[in-house]
Amino acid sequence: MFTKDSILTTIEEQQIVEAIRLAEQNTSGEIRVHIEKSNEKPPIERAQEVFYILNMQETEFQNGILIYIAYESRKVAIIGDKGIHKFTGDDFWNAEKDLLIHYFKKEKYADGISVVIEQMGEKLKEFFPYTVNDKDELSNEISNGY
Ligand code: CA
Ligand code: CA
Repeated sequence: MFTKDSILTTIEEQQIVEAIRLAEQNTSGEIRVHIEKSNEKPPIERAQEVFYILNMQETEFQNGILIYIAYESRKVAIIGDKGIHKFTGDDFWNAEKDLLIHYFKKEKYADGISVVIEQMGEKLKEFFPYTVNDKDELSNEISNGY
């Protein structure tokens, strides 16, 4: 599934940051992407660890979503904080994860991540619409490795 040293070009990274910015224009929710080369932990467990490292549990409405990718280990996970998870349940995260893998198998990394970000934005918007007082609580930049 992953064959390169890095899965995104600089331009693709910028496109993803822009996709996050656009998605967050419609919701108070926050989306982050973390990409690392390898990690042998179960992906959900590692994603939860990264979630806390990035302080994603600190959003006001507990509506942060993390897209986690370890490209050499061929692992992906998508997790959401309590506030959003209570509306979506596991099925939504699993379906989005499958969609991501579908794109990754075709080596369409940037496209896959962008599509999932867009869908995360749509889902967040249903439950956490944008308000005028909204803050960008979590950086839109891609988090890379540790
Ligand atoms: Ca926000
Ligand atoms: Ca943000």
